[in-house]
Amino acid sequence: MADLENFIKELEVQEIQLPYSIKLMLDLKNEFNLKEIYSSNGLLEIIKADNPESESMRTFIYEKIKEYLNACTDCLLHSSDSCTRKVPGEGCLNSPLMLIGEGPGFDEDKLGKPFVGRAGQLLTTILNKLGINRQKVYISNVVKCRPPMNRTPFVKEMKACSRNLELELTFIAPKVIIALGSVPLNYFKPNSSIMRERGKWIYTRGFWVMPTFHPAYILRQQGKALNKTKWDVWEDFNKALAKVRELCPEYSFN
Ligand code: SF4
Repeated sequence: MADLENFIKELEVQEIQLPYSIKLMLDLKNEFNLKEIYSSNGLLEIIKADNPESESMRTFIYEKIKEYLNACTDCLLHSSDSCTRKVPGEGCLNSPLMLIGEGPGFDEDKLGKPFVGRAGQLLTTILNKLGINRQKVYISNVVKCRPPMNRTPFVKEMKACSRNLELELTFIAPKVIIALGSVPLNYFKPNSSIMRERGKWIYTRGFWVMPTFHPAYILRQQGKALNKTKWDVWEDFNKALAKVRELCPEYSFN
């Protein structure tokens, strides 16, 4: 940690902006007087433990994630007419399962919460049918400001907002990620088609990523296509849940 602090001082002298994750690690260390942490895995073990101090750390981390996010002006989306506020991820920071969508829509922007519109309600229904309490997973988006007319975020906007998503990924460190639609799929595997990749595991950076259709896509289907899409998504969610159970058999979604 002393080496890390010296390194950081050096960067500050050179006016190099610190990665959010290092800033947060230092904030956490100072706030909780953490002395002997030699690796990010060691820190994660402490953060994820089941005791009141770890719980306070998780609350602290979440508040910091929101604080950094609210100060973010790294792309122009925050100043577009369609964006009235930033929409942070939400849920359980201890969860081995994270769901990632594209970006906030009208309802999410209005309420400042992810997946609360019609698509979000469908997502909650799918989770409940699988016996998963929505509060026991972490749900976020690739971009945190609503794009104009709900258009797909531009690559430069996704890249800019990756600072925020990476912070969530670092401190939540999920084992399994459900990528809801093409945008999060391409975040983890660029130049991919959701039509070709859905239902197929991607293992990257220590995460098992299961790409599936975005709930808004299901809502746009009709007739036989609707039935097929529903079954595809159901199958993908079941695969993701089975993987979490294999990797973290002790975790309860209730
Ligand atoms: S979309 Fe992300 S990067 Fe762009 S301003 Fe909003 S929070 Fe910052």
